[in-house]
Amino acid sequence: MARGKRDYYEVLGVARGASADEIKKAYRKLAVQYHPDKNPGSVEAEEQFKEISEAYEVLSDAEKRQRYDRFGHRAFGPGAGGFGFGGIDLEEALRTFMGAFGGGGSIFENFFGGGGRGREEAGGPARGNDLRFDLEIDFEEAVLGSERELTLPILQECDACKGTGAAPGSKRETCRRCNGMGVTIASNGFFQIRQTCSACGGAGEIVSQPCRECRGEGRVKGRSTISLKIPPGVETGSRLRLAGKGEGGLRGGPAGDLYVVLHVKPHELFQRRDEDIFVEWPIPYHVAALGGEVEVPTLHGYVPLKIPAGTQSGTLFRLKGKGVEGGHLLRGGDQHVRVVIEPPVRLSGRQKDLLRELAGSFEEGNHPQAARLRKLAETFYERRKVLEQDG
Ligand SMILES: [Zn+2]
Ligand SMILES: [Zn+2]
Repeated sequence: MARGKRDYYEVLGVARGASADEIKKAYRKLAVQYHPDKNPGSVEAEEQFKEISEAYEVLSDAEKRQRYDRFGHRAFGPGAGGFGFGGIDLEEALRTFMGAFGGGGSIFENFFGGGGRGREEAGGPARGNDLRFDLEIDFEEAVLGSERELTLPILQECDACKGTGAAPGSKRETCRRCNGMGVTIASNGFFQIRQTCSACGGAGEIVSQPCRECRGEGRVKGRSTISLKIPPGVETGSRLRLAGKGEGGLRGGPAGDLYVVLHVKPHELFQRRDEDIFVEWPIPYHVAALGGEVEVPTLHGYVPLKIPAGTQSGTLFRLKGKGVEGGHLLRGGDQHVRVVIEPPVRLSGRQKDLLRELAGSFEEGNHPQAARLRKLAETFYERRKVLEQDG
């Protein structure tokens, strides 16, 4: 996401035209090399492992690969709409690993000398995926907070079987073939080979009568309505985590989490940087000259702003504590007001006459800025004349 992503083909070290088989082979080799169980405590190896797993996730799926070939990483970024593909976490990477090795922990254990981590076996309960949803919100919602109802298409727990995958009235039974172990052990003379039980797919349990609603998966396609509380002070890139609101678990596993990533629409009047608000506000010509007071809008309502006599266009004023509350700063931010002088328009004949009379009364001392800059321009022209004569 923030870090520059490497090309997926480069990550796996395969050519762009590599076959599905070559991709799988390359991934398996690297995945075994960088597997966290083989590199305990190594953050680097874990990052590598996640990176190659992510690359494999995309390149091993014909449709995703096609999209990636056409659009690159943009195909899965926040701009892609709906559920983006914002990098994968370790759990997902481990699932990818399991998937690429035909499910089950057997090969994994053979490689690393058994033990494993008691991770879920394919076929058994599995945690649902974490999901990411990109949500555009208004400026007002970001600074003041709001509540939203989202209706999202998310796989959710099957009502009919309460997520177990077993038809109502039936139960999950211990697999007789493996006695609930999920693995069978064969011997080829030299080694004992542990294999995922083919009867139960490693679950150790068998659903004799799969639920019809979900075909034994324990979850179904559906639309989840989620109430989302947006706290005040959020900004573009803020992530709200809704625990357990992600994809439903498989066969009774726990649900994943939902991450809502916020994108704030710009506002025409208020600009924001962190907790500070910036407003450009016009003041009449006569107020700038004579001084006075104007009303300036802030997030918290209009406040009076004193304008000293002789205020120039572009002068910045600060309204302390009138910025965004609830962000990173405890005290809240400030509002900065940049005043610009608005000359009056649609003048009547009399107003024009008065202004002309006024203009005629001005002396150089009334406009010191122009006088100062004119001096700079004259110095420049004198230098120029000298340089032209020399040349
Ligand atoms: Zn069901
Ligand atoms: Zn079994």
